[in-house]
Formats: sequence, C-alpha cells, structure tokens
Amino acid sequence: MKCANLHGINDLRYEDIPKPECKDDQVLVQVKNCGICGSDIPRVYSKGTYYFPTVIGHEFSGKVVFDPMNELTGKKVAVFPLLPCFQCDSCKAGNYATCEHYDYYGSRRNGGMSEYIAVNRWNILPVPESVGYIEAAMCEPVSVARHAISKLNIKKGENLLISGAGPIGILAGQWAKAFGAENVYYFDVDPRKIDFCKKQGFLQYEKSVHIQCVLEGTGYADALSKCLEAIEPAGRMVLMGNPATEVCLSQNTYWHILRKELTVYGTWNSSYNSRQNDWAESLKAMADGLIDTKPLITHIFPLEDCNKAFEMMKNRTEFFNKVMLELGGEENA
Ligand SMILES: [Zn+2]
Ligand SMILES: [Zn+2]
Repeated sequence: MKCANLHGINDLRYEDIPKPECKDDQVLVQVKNCGICGSDIPRVYSKGTYYFPTVIGHEFSGKVVFDPMNELTGKKVAVFPLLPCFQCDSCKAGNYATCEHYDYYGSRRNGGMSEYIAVNRWNILPVPESVGYIEAAMCEPVSVARHAISKLNIKKGENLLISGAGPIGILAGQWAKAFGAENVYYFDVDPRKIDFCKKQGFLQYEKSVHIQCVLEGTGYADALSKCLEAIEPAGRMVLMGNPATEVCLSQNTYWHILRKELTVYGTWNSSYNSRQNDWAESLKAMADGLIDTKPLITHIFPLEDCNKAFEMMKNRTEFFNKVMLELGGEENA
C-alpha cells in the first residue's frame, strides 16, 4: 500500500509498505483524508519523529474495511490519535492527554498518511452520516480548539481575543460563538490571515475594544505580551500555542498578570473520556452545523503529492489555512 513515510529529517517518501496486520482489539481503516498539522512541518523538516521511518499524519478519517468483531465494518470513522498507557495517575483519572507514557499515531507509531492503518478499537469514533470524510478528518483540530475554549467558561456577551489565525484559532472562534461570545477578535502577524478571518465573520483586534477572555495560540512572547496588554482586569486567558523558542516577558508585561488579577490556564490536546469528550462533542457540532470546517480547507492534495503540499506549507509559497491530503480518489465523493 502507498504511504507518506518519513525516513529522516527532510526525507519524506511516497512509497509502498506492506499493509498492516489487524489484531483482535483493532479495526482496519481505509484512510480517506488526512490533514497536515502545523506540527507536521517541523516534524518533517527539523525535529523528526521518535524513530525512522514513521508514517506521519494524526488528523485522519476513513472507512472500516475489516473488523474482527464485525461491529464497525463499512462505518465512516474518525480516530483519536493518542494511545494512553492506562497505568499512570492521569490515565486512571481519564486525563489521557497528560499520560506519562503515551503512544501516538503519526509521531511515535505509524499514522494516517497511508492507504490503510490498523487502529485500536478504543480510539475509533463513528462519524454521523451528514459529516463527510474530509470534515471528519478535521475532528482533531476541532477537538483541540474546543478543549482550549472550554477552559475559559465564556459567558454570554463576553468578548474574546484570539492570537493566531491558523485553523485551530479560527475553529476556536467558532466554538466561542457557539458558547455565547459576543465578538471574537483576532490578531496575527500575517495580514492575509486577518483578511481570511474577516471573511469568516470575525473581527480584527483594535485597542479600543473590551476583552474579557483571551486565547493565545502562537507561543511567541510578542504575541503573549500583546494579549496581556489587551485583557481587562479579572480576565481569563488560556495558553495554547506551543513555543518554538524561549518565552521571555518584560517586568511591565508580567505585572499585567498580577495587577489585573488575571486567571491563566494551560491547555493540551483534548479530552476523550465520559466526563468530557471533546471528540464526540465536535462530531455532533459538525453534524448540527454549529462548527463549519469546510471554509477552512484551502488546499486538497492527493497523497502522492505529499511533498508538494509540505514544500508549499514550509516555504509559504501560497496562502493556506487547512491543507488536506486525499486518498482513494473518486471513491471519496
Ligand atoms: Zn494536529
Ligand atoms: Zn498513562
């Protein structure tokens, strides 16, 4: 079967590997779509995976083509990509995102940029009929955005500022509106991204507006400083952006946290348990039309053009928001 296999840094190959075996606690998924995550760019070009080669891709959907228990065969599914240890304290509490010894499709073991993948039954979510494969492949960023926004407990009428207008930033804006936010404002260093936000019905941040809640989605000190300046006293902020370098704040900026008595949350990945299941909620919201991922998908490449897609994203030769890979050709329609 064909796959996008990372053999080393800057060495992603579209090639044949053997079709995976399906164990008793797994189902065999024929992948239909796999999104390219922002984190896949450094994964391919600078950071690598935990071992080589690894088939990358953790944002995927597909059709179950073999189920040893014969329960899910033929079903459209999304996949929670994290494989918890089920032993540590976090796992025992159902907080799998903070598991100490987790495995992960697409970074620590073979992932979704592949015609077939054997997925543990525990990680499978059936997708509602009205949600397409390409939308189902957006379930990971939608869930990550939901997890972050739910930390803020947004009250009706409050304004939210989002720093960073990538796919998760825009999905977070959609969730905020769904949770009752009055206006969602953005800032981003790329003016094209701000224009894109405006087309989705969001606003560009200006100094005069009142901001009660903030989502920082870039991990850059400059952006964090701007967020801390913008927020009102007693405001809440959630930090989501994964920093690529040190994050240093000036004394004046740090004082905002103290003098305005801010509440600062962290967020990591998403919840996948019976108390809070961002994944099930995301699929439901997509089916109900509360979350619309389609306008975000600016590019679709066939899997064989994976290197073209990655180069375009790395070199920013075109404006993009969500870049999708498609497998299985016309069968998808
Ligand atoms: Zn991702
Ligand atoms: Zn664990």
